[in-house]
Amino acid sequence: MRKLQDLISVQQALELVPLDVKHKEFVENSKAIVREIFVWSSSKKLLLIGPCSIDFTKPVLEYAKFVKHLRDEFGDKLEIIMRFYTQKPRTTLGWKWFVYSHPWEDPNINDWILRVRALAREIIDRFEVPLADELLYPEITSRYRDVFSYVAVGARSTENQLHREVISWLDIPSGFKNPTSWEIKPMVNSIIASRAPHVFVLWDAIWESEGNPYTQWILRWWSQGPNYFRQHLMQAKKLMEEAGVLDGWVLIDVAHWNSQKDISKVPQIVNYTLDYFQDVELKDFFKWWMIESYLEEGNQAIDTPTPIMGKSFTDPVISKDTTYELVKKIYEALN
Ligand code: PEP
Ligand code: MN
Repeated sequence: MRKLQDLISVQQALELVPLDVKHKEFVENSKAIVREIFVWSSSKKLLLIGPCSIDFTKPVLEYAKFVKHLRDEFGDKLEIIMRFYTQKPRTTLGWKWFVYSHPWEDPNINDWILRVRALAREIIDRFEVPLADELLYPEITSRYRDVFSYVAVGARSTENQLHREVISWLDIPSGFKNPTSWEIKPMVNSIIASRAPHVFVLWDAIWESEGNPYTQWILRWWSQGPNYFRQHLMQAKKLMEEAGVLDGWVLIDVAHWNSQKDISKVPQIVNYTLDYFQDVELKDFFKWWMIESYLEEGNQAIDTPTPIMGKSFTDPVISKDTTYELVKKIYEALN
């Protein structure tokens, strides 16, 4: 092992690509809107939508502009947040994504942390679109945490104590996915843990957190199949109540394996879940979807000789046009 370079400090990152007052106010305001929905003081539903991971500046900006239009048209009933996922967990090996530089370039994480900040700032500045990331590496995310209105903890990190501690310290509404195995209990545990205060170590310091009351669950595919059906939600609800978490609720990940990575199933699943709003047991337990979408439909290999900009390099996703129709349908169903 050899040291490549020191990691840019949080302070340097914030100073080199600063958010101005207008950007900070926008993020604070959108976090406040999400919190209101978390505690049911707003009847809006939430939609987390966007590419599996951000890749190139131009198509990401174009997609953000599309989200702005969705927000303008459907924003009175739907709070739409864009997936701005900068880092990816890998099952074995592979590009760990945007903040790790493009795979054909020498990785320069310090430089790419600043590029993430600059791109996020541009989206907030031009389109006023709230952003979300997966908290994979707390050290990295901390260097641009001020741009996010929501963060998710992925399936592989849900049981990790440090991730729970860091969430307990962030003032950002957050969700924990169920682990890759079928274990709902660790998600209950992550909610209990992240809502409580902690003393913990991050970087070269010891921190005290206050606990984050705005944490919930994300139901993603488990080892035995999809878990967006009524029986899974009822089971999750029961476990949550047994653990004394009475204000818990779930977000359904419609993408990934819940749709068996078959994008033609995405609209059907959304359609199915819309019935929960008429279900006395579930209407206060479900209010949020995660949908993967980008400019173009499907996906392409990372080593494609002439890649199409705006087409996913990772999971297959629905196109902008399909997304528009789907969001319209959700909106109409909420009428
Ligand atoms: C994701 O939401 O992009 C993701 C990779 O999810 P998971 O943690 O469920 O694999
Ligand atoms: Mn994905």
